Amino acid sequence: MPTIYDYEPIVGKDVINELELLASKLTNVSVQHINSTSVGGGVAEILMRMVPLLKELGINTSWDVIKGGEKFFEVTKKMHNALHGQKVSFSQDEIDLFIQTNEMNSREMDLRGDIMFIHDPQPIGLVSKRELIGHKWIWRCHIDFSHPDPFTWDFLKKYIEKYDVSVFSAPAFARDLKIPQVLISPSIDPLSDKNKDLPKEVIDSVLDRFKIDKNRPIVTQISRFDYLKDPKGVIQVFQKVRKYIDCQLVLAGGGATDDPEGAKVFAEVQEIAANDPDIFLLLLPPGSDIEINALQRASSVVLQKSLREGFGLTVAEALWKSKPVIASAVGGIPLQIANKYSGLLTHTIEGTAFALKQLLQNPAYGLKLGANGKEHIRKNFLITRHLRDYMLLFLSLEHKGDDVVFL
Ligand code: UDP
Repeated sequence: MPTIYDYEPIVGKDVINELELLASKLTNVSVQHINSTSVGGGVAEILMRMVPLLKELGINTSWDVIKGGEKFFEVTKKMHNALHGQKVSFSQDEIDLFIQTNEMNSREMDLRGDIMFIHDPQPIGLVSKRELIGHKWIWRCHIDFSHPDPFTWDFLKKYIEKYDVSVFSAPAFARDLKIPQVLISPSIDPLSDKNKDLPKEVIDSVLDRFKIDKNRPIVTQISRFDYLKDPKGVIQVFQKVRKYIDCQLVLAGGGATDDPEGAKVFAEVQEIAANDPDIFLLLLPPGSDIEINALQRASSVVLQKSLREGFGLTVAEALWKSKPVIASAVGGIPLQIANKYSGLLTHTIEGTAFALKQLLQNPAYGLKLGANGKEHIRKNFLITRHLRDYMLLFLSLEHKGDDVVFL
């Protein structure tokens, strides 16, 4: 496991010194993260590295996961889709199940952090225990909140306003709330298995294992199989482009324990791909970090054709590997890609196909976009910046009401 000092060559000594200074003011504070899955999806991906690094810095940090049955996660996935703007309705039984599961967790879990750091809607109701146990409460939302369904938003808002502070990933998600809202973008860990440099032999062996031809261009989208990642749209893009340029498509991703829709989406995508030998649909088990790293590194172009996106860690991951990325201009993605500078932003299948043709025909342009993209990620979206933001947030909570916090 890399230590905090291993990041110094990437971000500079000053950044590490500042992290140590901030952490030295938080040694008597405990922070407990709670979310709804330990594997799959961006939240788990970040916590897996964030928690050990905060601990190493001397902050008493822990991470727990709520329990819920299959039905509960069906309801929370519906909620997730509704917050992303999909029209859905909830029965009273579904609402009751959501409330009861949160109550059950708040009874059974040891809610011990001085700072309770709750991620996303699934465990949002734990805050109801606040009246009994006190503590400071942060609600961190990782999803695209630009067009939430009004009913679902009103339902969640009652919980959100019981927190001390809410955290969103992008300015476009700011809402009308009685509590302060803080903007903190997610991040990637440049030294994790997902993002570290890989020898060519490792990349080649992954391609061989999946029988992908390393001598023809590879276009990749890494994502859970989720409608909001638009895997079917990706296939349509590929089919348009392949008429003109020989290339292969890799759609790779596994599931998440809090996402019950994955198998259905995968089956639909399989049907559309219809055994095309140039389309590789890879269902990856949890922990396939080296495989994902290798697939991203082997790609000529990386796509992220999401219809909604809280941030899109996969975009940062690909840019960090200096890849040209074509991604939808939704949610947190435009924070990462300045169009035609650090990647290409698109809005439609036709536009994405046009951009893909352009990049496959002009690799030098892609190299330039990739190089700019990597620098943008280095400056803004590495885990060291994220650690700093979180520690500043903790300090602001510990010094609530003070105009100035002296370090
Ligand atoms: N990921 C993974 N395995 C998969 C699919 C995705 O490890 O099968 C990772 C991916 O590399 C990224 C994260 O999960 O780090 C997905 O985060 P993102 O913000 O892109 O989307 P989310 O799944 O949170 O909507």
